[in-house]
Parts: sequence; structure tokens; C-alpha cells
Amino acid sequence: MTRTQELIDISERRSAHNYHPLPVVIHEAHGAWVTDVEGNRYLDFLSGYSSLNFGHGNEKIIEAAQKQLQNLTLTSRAFYHDQFAQFCAGLGDLTGKDMILPMNTGAEAVETAIKVARKWGYQVKGVAPDRANIIVMEDNFHGRTTTIISFSTDPDAHDDFGPYTPGFKIVKYGSAEAIREAIDADTVAVLVEPIQGEAGVLVPPDGYLRQVREICTAENVLMIADEIQSGLGRTGKTFACDHENVVPDVYIMGKALGGGVVPVSAIAANQDVLGVIQPGQHGSTFGGNPLACAVGNAVIDLLNTGEFQARATRLGDLMHARLNELVGHGVVTVRGRGLWAGVDIDPSLASGREVSKALLALGVLAKDTHGSTVRLAPPIVISEEDLMWALDRLAEAIESFR
Ligand SMILES: *Cc1c(COP(=O)(O)O)cnc(C)c1O
Repeated sequence: MTRTQELIDISERRSAHNYHPLPVVIHEAHGAWVTDVEGNRYLDFLSGYSSLNFGHGNEKIIEAAQKQLQNLTLTSRAFYHDQFAQFCAGLGDLTGKDMILPMNTGAEAVETAIKVARKWGYQVKGVAPDRANIIVMEDNFHGRTTTIISFSTDPDAHDDFGPYTPGFKIVKYGSAEAIREAIDADTVAVLVEPIQGEAGVLVPPDGYLRQVREICTAENVLMIADEIQSGLGRTGKTFACDHENVVPDVYIMGKALGGGVVPVSAIAANQDVLGVIQPGQHGSTFGGNPLACAVGNAVIDLLNTGEFQARATRLGDLMHARLNELVGHGVVTVRGRGLWAGVDIDPSLASGREVSKALLALGVLAKDTHGSTVRLAPPIVISEEDLMWALDRLAEAIESFR
């Protein structure tokens, strides 16, 4: 038995089956390339669902993490530490917001935004106790907590985990009209992914985010943008909302904020919103810890150069041009923005998983999402040559089913 098979067997026997990984056991990685336990190399076209925007083992991020590991790793929020001020000020400046509330995972940051919106609704907007509702989208993905899955429309994520948290109204994604119809006097927020990643990299119609912004402003409702997957350079801008020059009231960030090293998430908002939270009302033992902040500070520095946003734009244009050539040749449609694409494979040829497996055999790591879609999100540090090589492998993989 190979080492790979041995490790997969133990993993499958001894871990819950809450994921269905591709059959590869990764040992190390640098930049856009990963190596498995057999010594085979693969180009990473998933980037930990956009957590590795700056590449595996990014020098600046690792340097910051190593330095911090030597100095101080945890204080809890009972005390200040010397990485915290820079993290909050830096992330505040990056988002253009007054204040930051740091957490760890994406789901925790979404929960934070929900709590802040409700409290804002009662204390600032004047909604009657326990009446607040939040408008969310069909096919959303915001994480896995019991409250968040309460408003998921994916049966796998939702079913048999009730009783569910009330207070959410689900409307069609991409329709400003649907939001207008759903809003009532008790609505405190609209929670939206500027691009729906898990749903298959669904880009809403042009002008949608601007319309959401206008409706929220007119109705005195908070616009909350979940930029956990779409943000931090992936689409060619710092935030996907930037493509429509839209500034939400609350940004939710995660994934790449941790530089592929530690879980780091946060929400950013102005004082009139985030100021509603007082001591004891929300928190996390690990949220905003010194190691997380040091890594976050390195990530913010990288984003402030603008290099990654520009690179995602340039390489993204090349990627989409190449992908569009495959339409009609085993590919039905391609969606996305920047270095991020959802590729719908002709379902009569192969499933997304079958194509991902064929890609694995050709040396490219990608993952299917929802049936016939393959999601592509290489690290932004990928070279143009490697990018084009992997896209040729995608063409080859699809061709093998024709
Ligand atoms: C990944 C993701 C989350 C959840 O983040 P976790 O760190 O897995 O909890 C929430 N929203 C979006 C848009 C995501 O892509």
C-alpha cells in the first residue's frame, strides 16, 4: 500500500466525513506549488478557498509570524498588546472605516456582523425588542454555525440541524427588486456576498451592488458585505464592492487576512455602527491575538502596495480569455472576476468532481462546487507561465471526457 493510501485510510476511518477530499496527501508547499507525500508536485488552483491569495509560505508573512512567535503569541483581550493598535488602525485605513472587531474564523465574523446589526437596530434605528430581521440571499454561503445555517438554502448545510434561528428573510440573489419588496420597518441589515463563491462564483448583474447600497441608505438599513472569499485582492481590487465603487456599512473579512498561516477574521464599520458594542457584549479568547495581528499586519502591508490587486487583474484577464476559448468545447459557461472563475462543465460529459480528479492526475489541484462547476482560484503570486500551463491541463482534462 502506498503512503498516500495508508494516510487516506486512517483519515477516513478516524475523522468525521464532513468533507470529501480529493485523493492527495500534501506534505509541503511554496508559492503556488504543493508537493505530496510521494514527491509529486501540483499547481494549487484552489488556494485554500482564497485563504492563500499571497501564496504558500509567503516570505513577508512567514517572517512576521516567526518574529512574533519568538516574542508573544497570546494575551487574551484582558490586556493590550503591541500588535493590536497597528492591526486595527491598518485594517481600518484599508477599509476606510473607523473601527475593527477582530475574530478568528469567517463564521465568527459573520456572527459578529449579525449581532452588531441587531444591536444597532434596537439601539440606533429604534426597532421594537426581538423584531429585527436581516435580509439574506438564496444560495448564500456565510459559514457553518447554527445561526448561519438557519438561513442557508443548501439542504446539506441546513437540514436536520434545527431548531433554527429566526429573524432572516431569504430573497433572490442579484435582484434589487426582491430586496425592496422584502424590506420592512424592522429590517436592520442586508447581508450579501458581492460575488457568491461557494454557489459557483456567481457574479451579480452590473449595478446590483450599487442598487443594494442605494436601497439600504434610503431605508436606513445596514449594508453588510461578506468579503471573506471575494476580498483582499482576489478580484483585482481590494474588495469586490470596489468594482462598483460601493462602500458597505460593514465589511466582513477572513480567509486571506490570515495569510494562510492562522485563522484571522474581522469586521470593519464606523463608530455609529460598531460603537454599539460595549465591554462584555461580544468577544473571543483568541480574536485579535498577537500572532494573528502580526500576520494580519503583514497581509495589510502587502495589500497596501497594490501589487496583488494589479496582478490579479492582469492574470485574471489572461485566465478569463483562455477559459472563454473553452466555451462550446466541453465548457458551458465561465463566470468570475479577476483571478477567480467558476467553470461550468457540460454535465453530459463529466461532473465537476470528475474533472477535478482528472486535473489532479495532470498535476493541478482544483475543487468542484455544486455538481458541474469547477472553481479556479490560484494564488495571486502564480507566474503567468504556470497559470497558462494549468489552463492547458484544464483543457486537456475536459477533452479527455469528449
Ligand atoms: C469561507 C467563507 C465563510 C466562512 O469562513 P470560515 O473561516 O470557514 O468560518 C463565510 N463567508 C464566505 C463568503 C466564505 O467564503
